[in-house]
Amino acid sequence: ELNHAIKSDGMELYYQPQVQMDGSQRLSVEALIRWNHPQRGMVFPDQFIPLAEDSGLIIPMTWWVVEASMKQCARWHQDGLPVNVSINISANFLQEELVVERVAELVRTYQLPDHTFALEITENMLMNDPHQASKTLIELNAMNIDVSIDDFGTGYSSLAYLKHLELDELKIDRSFVMGMSEYKNDSVIVQTVIDMAHNMGLRVVAEGVENRQDWDRLDGMGCDFIQGYFISKPKPVDEINIWLKEFYQHGMQLDLGLN
Ligand code: C2E
Ligand code: CA
Ligand code: CA
Repeated sequence: ELNHAIKSDGMELYYQPQVQMDGSQRLSVEALIRWNHPQRGMVFPDQFIPLAEDSGLIIPMTWWVVEASMKQCARWHQDGLPVNVSINISANFLQEELVVERVAELVRTYQLPDHTFALEITENMLMNDPHQASKTLIELNAMNIDVSIDDFGTGYSSLAYLKHLELDELKIDRSFVMGMSEYKNDSVIVQTVIDMAHNMGLRVVAEGVENRQDWDRLDGMGCDFIQGYFISKPKPVDEINIWLKEFYQHGMQLDLGLN
């Protein structure tokens, strides 16, 4: 069924904003896949990504995500909404033959401006095959596609290895962000990751921001970007379009309940 869904329009991308803390209008959205199952309704990725990984369907699925999200990114730019797009990839995808050439061709086809497209990959994924993964990521990065380490702090990466990658961004795992108000150690970890990222010349995104208090705390800590239900839940294209137009017209007006 998953195979069929990938080939026949059964998958859909939702988008969740990542807003910049300094109030500027630099905006990214993360593409998050959903499966519109005819009987089960909306199926969330945690329920089918492991299956996709084990069966190899992750590869055609990721190609579908790459193409659909690039097409959407290009459309937003044509419509005067300069939004950047991030997608999630797994390590298997980086081992695909000709992955760099095919991505380059899609970037040309959709005429994506530099640094408008980013790949998020988790630490554990990278450590599966560090050599091949880093070679491919460095080539993609040279094409001005940004590279972000997702769920940072939860995996088994080694800093000695990460320093060799051409990275642009670290995303602090939401478990630390959501623990900040209760556990002092979580705040210390968040602050330390922010400082380390900045010292390495990387931008930092905090995910899982669900309330004003966490927003304010992260702002005080110098975090660059925020993502979470407090800003907006992931939304389908027609709904995120309304959100984007509002955002570019009025900026991030927390009190207006833009989320
Ligand atoms: P992720 O990359 O860490 O994505 C963030 C997840 O956190 C999303 O769940 C999002 O809905 C959720 N989230 C965002 N803000 C908040 C918040 O404030 N509070 C809470 N409690 N949760 C929040 P989602 O969409 O169910 O995705 C789950 C995971 O599935 C993603 O985690 C990612 O690892 C994977 N995934 C999603 N789309 C794709 C894809 O296209 N390809 C691959 N390979 N993996 C994907
Ligand atoms: Ca992600
Ligand atoms: Ca994440």
